[in-house]
Amino acid sequence: MSRPNIVVLGAGYGGIMTTVRLQKELKANDANITLVNKNDYHYQTTWLHESSAGTLHHDRARIPIGDLIDFNRVNFIQDTVLSIDPEGQRVQLEEGELTYDYLVIGLGFETATFGIEGLLEHAHSITNINSSRLIREEIERNFAKYNNEPEEREDLLTIVVGGAGFTGIEFLGEIANRVPELCEEYDIPREKVRIINVEAGPTALAGFDPELVEYAMNRLEEKGVEFRISTMIKKVTEDGIVVEKDDEQEMIPSRNVVWAAGVTGNSIVGESGFEVNRNKVPVREDLRAPDYDNVFVVGDCAVLMNPETERPYPPTAQIAIQMAELTARNLKQVVHGNNELEPFEFDNKGTVASLGNTDAIGVIFGDRKLFGRSASIMKKVIDNRYLLKLGGVGLFLKKGKLDMYH
Ligand code: FAD
Ligand code: NAD
Repeated sequence: MSRPNIVVLGAGYGGIMTTVRLQKELKANDANITLVNKNDYHYQTTWLHESSAGTLHHDRARIPIGDLIDFNRVNFIQDTVLSIDPEGQRVQLEEGELTYDYLVIGLGFETATFGIEGLLEHAHSITNINSSRLIREEIERNFAKYNNEPEEREDLLTIVVGGAGFTGIEFLGEIANRVPELCEEYDIPREKVRIINVEAGPTALAGFDPELVEYAMNRLEEKGVEFRISTMIKKVTEDGIVVEKDDEQEMIPSRNVVWAAGVTGNSIVGESGFEVNRNKVPVREDLRAPDYDNVFVVGDCAVLMNPETERPYPPTAQIAIQMAELTARNLKQVVHGNNELEPFEFDNKGTVASLGNTDAIGVIFGDRKLFGRSASIMKKVIDNRYLLKLGGVGLFLKKGKLDMYH
């Protein structure tokens, strides 16, 4: 029998880790492995709030695929996936078509817009290297513009962040640290700059430990962040945002609107005929799509229920990596003719969120709370551990967060 074709779509946490593991676990004669990704690099989505604020150069957050994959073992195609035909076992790319015997979908997330008027046109979101670079550059440009305008333009110096989930809070931590540097660079008094967070829910970081939430909000407020809680972004225009609280609307003039208020799976998945919920496939316990035994879904395109809470596991890099490791093991089984697949069991290592480079909050080992420097060190340990896992000591030394050892 000829070697089966395994095709992996996307080189985010889920896709790249599946491919790296397949490369290790399978012998060259077991299967042909193809990886498709838009760019010739993998990026650390979990660092994009830093690149967006300008506290970490975006080149630090990206890793050439060639540094992670042996091109003699894996056929890498740099192209954009347009659609998947699960019945015909085909993938349509911008510049060609692929057929597969086994497919792994790891196409990641998209920003949830909830149909809010003007959002796509006038707000930025922290999604990938390109969007992060644009956010950093737009904020810098608006600061540069300020002293060249004939009239006082508060909209240029007002930064609005929509959503106080983990993405919003982590970005606020970085931008609050970056603003004093920008003020110095562009001759702007600090008090002229406003950083406003707008959160629809009754608290930031809903569902997280209340003591840590309070710590985070206090720390961010000390650095000048204004929280507008229980306030909904209703509309975004070229000039700013319209918010609503207690049925009262208000316009906040701003040229720097960053929308960090939720994610969905990649719309390609929803449009390709899979059963989906917000573009996420409700996978079986072995991470296969409900109707297709040869399609595995990993990361933010998959949704899986947590049996303890009876709610879906939140989409995170942590779970994407674990899904990828299991999928590689299961693919090894199927290409060897064994159809008894291992079920996914999430090993929750906890959650740690940064509040700038030296501060953070987190809960690890079930109920151990961390905040301040110890939490920040833990965040960097988690990041460094991923790099070690993915590309060994070489990658860790090249891209790791080594300042914690100083
Ligand atoms: P992604 O990382 O989104 O990767 C998808 C890949 O597919 C990308 O390489 C993309 O280029 C490629 N792709 C997309 N569409 C196409 C296409 N049409 N054709 C070809 N290629 C395509 N989680 C944590 O666990 N810890 C954290 O600290 C954390 N911090 C975060 C901070 C920020 C700012 C954000 C935004 C998220 C954070 N998350 C964190 C969540 C985490 O990043 C995501 O859950 C994770 O990235 C999902 O991994 P993935 O592999 O599914 O997709
Ligand atoms: P989220 O869904 O967790 O939070 C979005 C927030 O936006 C919510 O608090 C919601 O109430 C608010 N919101 C929604 N609509 C709004 C509106 N119209 N106006 C104002 N506020 C509005 O999304 P996220 O923060 O992007 O996180 C996405 C996923 O990534 C989550 O699973 C999260 O756990 C994960 N993540 C993890 C980390 C970490 O572990 N350090 C960091 C970032 C993201």
